[in-house]
Amino acid sequence: MNKSFPIFTVGAIVVAVLIYFFYNSKESQGGVIEDEISSPITSSSSVGLIDDKRIIEAEGEPENWIAHGRTYEEQRFSPLTKINKESVSDLGLAWYKDMGTNRALEATPIVVDGIMFFTSTWSRVYAVEAKTGKTLWSFDPEVPGEWARKACCDIVNRGVAVYQGKVFFASLDGRLFSLNAETGEKIWEVDTITDRTRAYTITGAPRVAKGKVYIGNGGAEYGVRGYVTAYDTETGEQVWRFFTVPGDPSLGFEDPAMEMAAKTWKGTNWWEFGGGGTVWNSIVYDPDFNNIYLGVGNGSPWTREIRSPGGGDNLFLASIVAVDADTGKYKWHYQTTPEDNWDYTAVQDMALADMEVDGEKKKVLLQAPKNGFFYVIDRSNGKVLRAHPFAAVTWATHVDLETGRPVENPEVDYSENGSFVLPGPLGAHNWQAMSVDLDAGLVYIPAQENAFFYAIDENYKKTGIYKRNPGRWNMGIEMSSLAQNVLSNLESMPEPGGFLKAFDPLTGETKWSVPIPHYWNGGVLGTAGGLVFQGDALGIFSAYDKETGERLWEFNTYTSMLAPPISFEIDGEQYVSILTGSGGGDLFGGEPLPPIEIQASLTYNNFGRLLVFKLGGQKELPIPDVRDKTIPEQVLADASNDQIRNGESNYNQYCAVCHGFVVKSAGGLPDLRKMTTDTHDLFNKIVLEGILGSNGMAGFADVLSEDDVDNIHHYVRARAHEDREVSLGNMEAPQFTWYGVED
Ligand code: CA
Repeated sequence: MNKSFPIFTVGAIVVAVLIYFFYNSKESQGGVIEDEISSPITSSSSVGLIDDKRIIEAEGEPENWIAHGRTYEEQRFSPLTKINKESVSDLGLAWYKDMGTNRALEATPIVVDGIMFFTSTWSRVYAVEAKTGKTLWSFDPEVPGEWARKACCDIVNRGVAVYQGKVFFASLDGRLFSLNAETGEKIWEVDTITDRTRAYTITGAPRVAKGKVYIGNGGAEYGVRGYVTAYDTETGEQVWRFFTVPGDPSLGFEDPAMEMAAKTWKGTNWWEFGGGGTVWNSIVYDPDFNNIYLGVGNGSPWTREIRSPGGGDNLFLASIVAVDADTGKYKWHYQTTPEDNWDYTAVQDMALADMEVDGEKKKVLLQAPKNGFFYVIDRSNGKVLRAHPFAAVTWATHVDLETGRPVENPEVDYSENGSFVLPGPLGAHNWQAMSVDLDAGLVYIPAQENAFFYAIDENYKKTGIYKRNPGRWNMGIEMSSLAQNVLSNLESMPEPGGFLKAFDPLTGETKWSVPIPHYWNGGVLGTAGGLVFQGDALGIFSAYDKETGERLWEFNTYTSMLAPPISFEIDGEQYVSILTGSGGGDLFGGEPLPPIEIQASLTYNNFGRLLVFKLGGQKELPIPDVRDKTIPEQVLADASNDQIRNGESNYNQYCAVCHGFVVKSAGGLPDLRKMTTDTHDLFNKIVLEGILGSNGMAGFADVLSEDDVDNIHHYVRARAHEDREVSLGNMEAPQFTWYGVED
């Protein structure tokens, strides 16, 4: 057995559960990681001098990457040119840092005067010398492992903000921190969560401006009410809070915007379950208008007829909302998907730009949200100027620019019969950053086409009652028979795939498009050197010619990527860096049909690393062994079809989001088909009692009975048995029709 492999990737070998414990506890343990030697930053760093003016003028310091999207405009386009079309063939690895995790890394590092600040899993923060990788300090907020159960999309974090000598970040369990940028020592910590009985999580990077730090949260599917809070950067005191969806009207409204929003919700109890509308990713400061733009997510549940019976737009779900940066007062909104029915969040990165539109200079906001339309919005008033599709879209035919509203396509209405719809809930574009190239008039988008079979929850259809459950995903979608629904509608299933697209937001034309066999790929960086960088699911970090999309350079990282690359310069040398490790929201998409085994994280593993490249870099990455995909022979206990189906239903409600649909892990978390005998023996203790809670596998005794867990176990074994039979050539493809002993 190769020691560098986490235990759960190894197949039929009987491995002591103790080792499993050891591996995972290392992953989640608090405190400074053993091999990290912390030393304060002593260089003549200007970290302490970052303020609004400097970020506004960030174009003047191309060597640094001082804000999340490099500047307040968040265009993620580097003006550096030393790495260019001619020189890129000489690009090589300068150094790498193992982050000791096999879960997804999503952060955009901040680089100031050669010091890099970034986050890893479990909301840990690192400051490293960007030239050498030497760790200067690290900080672990010691997130309770059990909080992972509240996270829809893994224990990820998308980064820090650096401002006036402080590093700001938020932890998965909803705390916001201010650290001394030089030493990593904590200055203050605040709890941003209004109700800790609800499943709030934070994975997004805070933004800073006007002496305030702005942070939202996630958890819509689990039943929370979205909001964004501004805190004083010096003291941590709350300055304002803006809710994105209305609360209980009988209690009065926080502000006139909530009163307006409440008129667009129907039914009697949306507020009891929170309503959703979380701002889990994009928050952008606009110095031109003193606005903060909030990218607002989906409602809970996804299906509108359950969420808001009788209709209504459900403001501010799936919207971009402009509020005053100083007061948090509502200014305008644009709703990308009124009456959202598909999980079409508008939380994707927003970029600001000055563009000529129809012969007029406009200050615009650019966003490619999940719903597949690319929006160009006038920042002065929120009016939509363009909304061209940038990927395959079937839910709507177009956006009417007069009304600003999409025109839905009745052919894929799923209120009666289920239907494949494009985009699916992962979106035509998700949080993986795009890059805006104003010179070329193009945006480079990590787009995807990944349909989903939407059908209304069968139990609700039968009874008219939807039981909301705070312990699980609440989608209103039929999940227990999803595999069967997909199988019986295979002929209408669009093929999934990914694309790197150079897209003109004004004309809607695609200048070029690079197909990528897997849909779930990394963020994008454009550079003035004529290059577009992206890491993909196949583990290849590439530089493309920004004129043609031709691949000019590639580097095999052996790990799927999601994070966006950045570029910076130290002592006259340009660097490009990227974090590796996939997962995130795609944990749910274990890709049952067709099986896509091309992901590097499935072929090898998920190696959480920070990679830094420069011209002439000579460092080599160790080449990992290919993973053993053998599925051990299963001990099939006597179980009826009904028991297995009950197990499947509960698996889909509680387990699939992390361990993968149809029990196929996407790579980051244990693949339950490969459980050892010891783990099988401890199955109920793990699932009910939560004996692995500190590692992130919390107990589920509050929502599952002993029988439920037995049935989940039967289902897991039945699935493992099927896949083993397929791998041995005894079965052509999984049948998903259980063969247990009839009662
Ligand atoms: Ca969602």
